[in-house]
Amino acid sequence: MPTRRLNFYDHAVFDRAGVFRKDAAWIAARLDDEATRFVPVWRSQNLFVEEVPAPVLLERAELREIPGEFVLLGLDEGRAVFAVDLSPLETPLDAVRLDRPAQFGDLRRFGPLIDPGEGTLLAYARGMLYWHSRHRFCGVCGSPTGSVEAGHVRRCTNASCGTSHFPRTDPAVIMLVTDGDRCLLGRQRQWPAGMHSTLAGFVEPGESLERAVAREVIEETGIEVGEVTYHSSQPWPFPSSLMLGFTARALTTELRVDPEELETARWFDKAWLLRHEDDDEFRLPRRDSIARRLIEDWLGR
Ligand SMILES: [Zn+2]
Repeated sequence: MPTRRLNFYDHAVFDRAGVFRKDAAWIAARLDDEATRFVPVWRSQNLFVEEVPAPVLLERAELREIPGEFVLLGLDEGRAVFAVDLSPLETPLDAVRLDRPAQFGDLRRFGPLIDPGEGTLLAYARGMLYWHSRHRFCGVCGSPTGSVEAGHVRRCTNASCGTSHFPRTDPAVIMLVTDGDRCLLGRQRQWPAGMHSTLAGFVEPGESLERAVAREVIEETGIEVGEVTYHSSQPWPFPSSLMLGFTARALTTELRVDPEELETARWFDKAWLLRHEDDDEFRLPRRDSIARRLIEDWLGR
């Protein structure tokens, strides 16, 4: 394991327990075990007790039914943990029996406020059930697929096809471009007022990560980069990305911003960033993001 400080959604305090996924008898027994915990997901939302806020992990007795897919997430201190999909229900709280008020909400709203280990578990649950919802039919022959291996594979039900489909993760590069004591931050039109962040983009088929970094930077800002250095990665299943973080050294400094991609991009002095507090004119990205981490680490905070 890395010795670095972990990125949010990467605090895996549980064992993914891959060896049990094909053991149908073990899975069936765990689904009925009172020690087992269930992470309910409804249409990409997780269940929270709002005041704290804290995620709700259900005990078997608190779950009336499993109306959709289930996925073995792993073992937490010897207890099995499953994600359960309540999306087929219009009113998902009908499936649970709780003695405390709770409601479904977007993990990104609570992310930085909850326990990082639980945040990691909820992001994993949400990402897996999103994948199930988008792969109900075989991309090869168009027949329905069915969940197997405790929710980690979807297999085509057409016997003459039988293709196995595996959970998808889309790699995206995210990079802090620096020029001595300045760094390059951009802003997309739809972001919250004043927010500026690192550049980012999806890796294309047949492309290395280093080349994806260089391509995205020149496409969005006209800046050529030289040395590209890996920083760290962050699962970002909103809905299905893996963010691969880099720093990149600028070889040129004259900006030519692509207005389709960015509203603006500018060079920011380190000293100015260190002095500046968030306000409506300027703010950094959310604290649970790797973008924020790349900037804070460069600033030496
Ligand atoms: Zn098929």
